[in-house]
Amino acid sequence: MMDINDRNDSGWKNGGGQPPQSEPQRQYYYMARLRAYVEEKSLALGRPLTASIQTFGCQMNARDSEKLAGILREAGYEQIDSEEADFVLYNTCTVRENANQKVYGRLGTLNHWKKDHPHMMIALCGCMMQEPEVVEKIRKSYRFVDILFGTHNIFKLAELMVTRIEAADMVVDIWKDTDLVVEDLPNRRKYSFKSGINIMFGCNNFCSYCIVPYVRGRERSREPEDILNEIRRMAQDGVTEVMLLGQNVNSYGKTLDTPMTFAALLREIEKIDGLKRIRFMTSHPKDLSDELIEVMGSSDKICKHLHLPLQSGSTRVLKEMNRRYTKEQYLDLVERIRAGVPDISLTTDIIVGFPGETQEDFLETMDVVRKVRYDSAFTFLYSKRTGTPAASMPDQVPEDVAKERFDRLLKEVQEISRQVTARHVGTVQQVLVEEINRQDASLVTGRLSHNTVVHLPGDASMIGKILDVKLTECRGFYYLGEPV
Ligand code: SAM
Ligand code: SF4
Repeated sequence: MMDINDRNDSGWKNGGGQPPQSEPQRQYYYMARLRAYVEEKSLALGRPLTASIQTFGCQMNARDSEKLAGILREAGYEQIDSEEADFVLYNTCTVRENANQKVYGRLGTLNHWKKDHPHMMIALCGCMMQEPEVVEKIRKSYRFVDILFGTHNIFKLAELMVTRIEAADMVVDIWKDTDLVVEDLPNRRKYSFKSGINIMFGCNNFCSYCIVPYVRGRERSREPEDILNEIRRMAQDGVTEVMLLGQNVNSYGKTLDTPMTFAALLREIEKIDGLKRIRFMTSHPKDLSDELIEVMGSSDKICKHLHLPLQSGSTRVLKEMNRRYTKEQYLDLVERIRAGVPDISLTTDIIVGFPGETQEDFLETMDVVRKVRYDSAFTFLYSKRTGTPAASMPDQVPEDVAKERFDRLLKEVQEISRQVTARHVGTVQQVLVEEINRQDASLVTGRLSHNTVVHLPGDASMIGKILDVKLTECRGFYYLGEPV
């Protein structure tokens, strides 16, 4: 975190003077200015101002939202879940078409609320905003939105809000790409004892169905010292589990001035005192090294779980997807991982109905699912994303055919998952307790190192602790347990 005294030199601690040009000082200047507006409005309303961040999509967005929440807290907003707030921010996803539709639907509802509360501000950020057609549509048809920004400048939230307050017109600030990584901004963790942490941004892989490289820009890694210092600070602050985030963590460090492998970074993270569990996602199979398998096998802290997206089991489809591995290479990799890290849980992502997918191709996917026996799998119906190479491929699979395959795959995945998950029944395992059970307040819910969910009797005092738990019963995808 930056030293608060640094903020005093040009009077900008209180938001006076000219904005500094360098980051993050410039943003602290704007947070102070925003705070002055928030205090004034709170006084007029006789209550604190509230802010609501709605996050769509992946763990990257969830982490971005923690940073946005940190900025809003610094500016004096009280964060609430309800969208009946003074400031509502949608952090959007655009990986599949239905994610976009969801946002348009919810904006309609928000408009009604804003009509009765004209001082309210609405902002949209994230992947969807990196698509020019989306920005055009919102500018034309959703004039009540106040601020639009993208994935590359989320650190500017306070500056954009101050600009909106002073300009009285919609503020649009979308960057096409960036190589800027702004360090040392505030963030507000959802959990006190675990946190996501970005180790890299963007993606260079251009899988032919995927919009991420277009909306998140080119791959860039953070400096290892910045990552290690952030984790050290988190550990001192009570964090025992970190999730290292990147679209392809296995290619971490390639773009650094002094290149470093992901496995070498893990070795350094492992040395941090107080840290008990290390997770990471996502691992692209084409870049998963023997060095990584070795580090995972010998580590006490790296969790026994690997998310290894398959996408398709057909070598022909994988080639069309530009995944750069074959069915055989994937299966061979799984074998090497299982040999190096016994009892590891494997999970995956699979797309059904990719353009040109035949019945034979689909059966290849089913074959891999039966051979690997995943602990769980996210299954997706292929969604056509304009601008990606797959969108203009011939032979788009008819919806009913894709849906029928999807249902068959899901049934298979669930049946295998039920059998595989049950392998630990009767054993004692370490569980990190995360929260009070949402259905039954006499239970708490936690996770194994394998990432499987466990419910056990308990109370709030257990949250954040790692306990030995006897797994008494497996109910499909989760366990019931008893502390020992
Ligand atoms: N970088 C990660 C990787 O390579 O596995 C995943 C990022 S993506 C946000 C998460 C998942 O969404 C992908 O693994 C893929 O299965 C799915 N996905 C991406 N584009 C898709 C599309 N056009 N249609 C359906 N699913 C898609
Ligand atoms: Fe998308 Fe492929 Fe990059 Fe993952 S690796 S974000 S699926 S392009």
